[in-house]
Parts: sequence; structure tokens; C-alpha cells
Amino acid sequence: MSIVRTEAFVLKAFRFGETSMIYRLLTRDRGVVPVIAKGARRPRSRLGAAVDPFRRLDVTYYDRPGREIQTLSQAEVLADHRDILASLERLEAAGQWFRFLRALLPDGAPAEPIYALAVEALERLERLPAGRLARWQAYHRAAAAARLGLAAQLDACLGCGRELPDGGPLRLSIEAGGLVCMACAAPDRSWSALTGDEYAILTLYHHPDWTLLEELDGREADERRVQDLVLRFVAWHADVRPPAGGAG
Ligand SMILES: [Zn+2]
Repeated sequence: MSIVRTEAFVLKAFRFGETSMIYRLLTRDRGVVPVIAKGARRPRSRLGAAVDPFRRLDVTYYDRPGREIQTLSQAEVLADHRDILASLERLEAAGQWFRFLRALLPDGAPAEPIYALAVEALERLERLPAGRLARWQAYHRAAAAARLGLAAQLDACLGCGRELPDGGPLRLSIEAGGLVCMACAAPDRSWSALTGDEYAILTLYHHPDWTLLEELDGREADERRVQDLVLRFVAWHADVRPPAGGAG
């Protein structure tokens, strides 16, 4: 048995027995780890008071190799994200994001890049201006998929390998995993046509710097279409269903 101290979010919580809880943690160092918090539902439990959804936690647990559920011994709050809990829309978006991560991450997958993304995503969600939830959601889903090696190929044609023209038009093949130039795209295929403007927005959705997309303004119709393509791309490649109805 060893003692593991790491950072974590709670992906899912279940009641267990009279007073305990089982949490499915997304940890920074060990990926997804189920733990039991004994007595966490007792009124004075320090564990129960600290552990809550969407809080960034410093956790310590006893790790016994071969056991399915480890034992949580301590939890301290590093960030409580009160502004997410204060808004129903943000709360719902955060819930969808965590359900997505749960479906995306196989047990035992190396999770450090996904954990770092989860930290950033929740910090951004707290400061997000009104009306930007759908953008936030599609961007972070694409980023999570990219960190697992499921990124769209956007800089060169999947057919001929040539650099793609900035002004479009182009076609996106979700199943093939990226863009093709018009010379390579057969006209009878069901690939999605992209204008130059949509291509430009699509590259922002796959850019590692979120602040570039944050500055995008006034292209609502083009952006909605791109969001739909991004969500379909991630759903196809990561085998995770797109969110029902989006998140506003
Ligand atoms: Zn081509």
C-alpha cells in the first residue's frame, strides 16, 4: 500500500452505505481513480465538507494495487469555483463537460494533459461572458480530443498533402479526419463544404490559444455551423455523443 497525494476533480459521486460516499476522481497524476470516503455524509465530516462537484481539490488517498476502490483520507479545497455554482447555465455546462470527460477517458489513461485542460476550462467558464457557452463547450471538447491524439488535420489536404488555400472553399471529411482541397474532393461525396470564413473560424477552434477565439465577434451564423462540425468531429472520433441541444 502506498499513499498518493495529488490534485483531483470529482467526476461522479455515489452514496454508499449509511454514511459514506464513493467518488470517481479525475486525478492529475493517476487518471481516473474511484475512492471511498468513509463517513463523508456525517454532519461533521471534513471530507464531506471539502469534496463537492467542480471543486479543484488537493487529495490524499491510500492506494492498494489490485483494488478497484481506493480509500480517500484527506481533501482540501484549492478552488471552489463559486461563480460556476451560482449560475444554472454554467453549472449545467460544467456538468456536461464532466460527463464528456468521463465518457472520453478510458480507465488508466494518462490524464495529466486532460486534467490541466479541465483546470483551464473551469477557470474560463467562471469568467465567460453571457451567450458564449456553446463556444466554450465546442472549443474544449476539441481540445480534449486533440490532447488524446484525435485532432482534425487542418493545415494540409488529406488527399494531396498540399497546403490549403486561406480563402477556401474546402471540404471537411469528418470520417477521414480533416480537410481536403476542392481538386481532391469528389463532387458526389457527402463531405461538408467550408467557405474561407468558416475555415478561418474552424482553425480558431483548434488553436491552442483560447484567447484568439475569445476575440471573435459578430460571425454568429458561420460560427454556429463550425461549432456543429467541431462537435460532430469529436463525437465521431472520440466516440462520445454530442451534447443534446448544445449549451446555449
Ligand atoms: Zn488535395
